[in-house]
Amino acid sequence: MAESVTIKVMCRFRPLNSKELARQDKFLPKFISDEQIKLDGKTYTFDRIFNETTQQETVYKYAAQPIVKDVLTGFNGTIFAYGQTSSGKTHTMEGVLHDSNLSGIIPRIVDDIFNHIYGMDESIEFHIKVSYFEIYLDKVRDLLDISKTNLPVHEDGNRVPYVKGATERFVVSPEDVMDVVDEGKSNRSVASTNMNDQSSRSHSIFLIQVSQEDKTKETKLNGKLYLVDLAGSEKVGKTGAEGIVLDEAKNINKSLSALGNVISALAEGTKTHIPYRDSKMTRILQEALGGNCRTTIIICASPAEYNEAETKSTLMFGVRAK
Ligand code: ADP
Ligand code: MG
Repeated sequence: MAESVTIKVMCRFRPLNSKELARQDKFLPKFISDEQIKLDGKTYTFDRIFNETTQQETVYKYAAQPIVKDVLTGFNGTIFAYGQTSSGKTHTMEGVLHDSNLSGIIPRIVDDIFNHIYGMDESIEFHIKVSYFEIYLDKVRDLLDISKTNLPVHEDGNRVPYVKGATERFVVSPEDVMDVVDEGKSNRSVASTNMNDQSSRSHSIFLIQVSQEDKTKETKLNGKLYLVDLAGSEKVGKTGAEGIVLDEAKNINKSLSALGNVISALAEGTKTHIPYRDSKMTRILQEALGGNCRTTIIICASPAEYNEAETKSTLMFGVRAK
């Protein structure tokens, strides 16, 4: 049986940055409508396009809010940010934490979930737990316990893969969740001090699990939401890439193309074999990508002429996922 999934691909362009402005880079994309852009004479269509002035709140409304609703009714969901380093992935997923205007998808999701719970009947009991880990060179590192540097992926009784032994924190307020996010982020930078900007070479995954029990009807619902800030998708230049850097580049390439293959197989809807096993990330996300789930990919791109090749490759990743 082919699995039925909903995959949406949205595209966000950031503004030109100061470096690009200083060298008077051309601003390449032409925004035609909410669903179409033109770049170098070619038109690309996505479920939604966000231009360089689109606010965080608007991105949240289209890219995340519908998924949050589904997770609260027992579906699984995944939101990915894909793109080259410095294209706006972290700005989109996290934004400026603790800033009501500039905060990104994660803090807004957290607020929405708790607002939903506060408005519910008391006969429904909610349990929310969060985990935070990253995948670097195909190893899963716990961002809430840095002693766990290589967590195994196991299968549960239903043969669903999961990260075994990842720290799970029970949270009872948005502030609790944001404390966990802050903690994970500071652990991430501690672990990477001896390597130059390692965070852009690992995939970070923030997992929110919501379970609810209706005491009067005796029903239970479970929803998992994976929020993924992917490693930078840029190709490494042929010169200067050796040792760890080349290993990293090959590894990132491999895991991003494995993700692309899984998503395009799911998007086709007719494939019976989905190649989840080709990378650790797709194995971990198997349950949230296949089956009862919603997926949104936000491809992030630079508008600058200087990045044209990477931007085209990012747009093509998005096109393949549709
Ligand atoms: P990535 O995570 O893809 O490497 P970042 O999210 O860190 O990229 O973005 C790089 C820089 O550009 C950051 O300083 C960020 O604040 C800024 N930036 C990214 N997207 C936007 C946007 N849509 N509007 C304003 N600034 C942005
Ligand atoms: Mg980033």
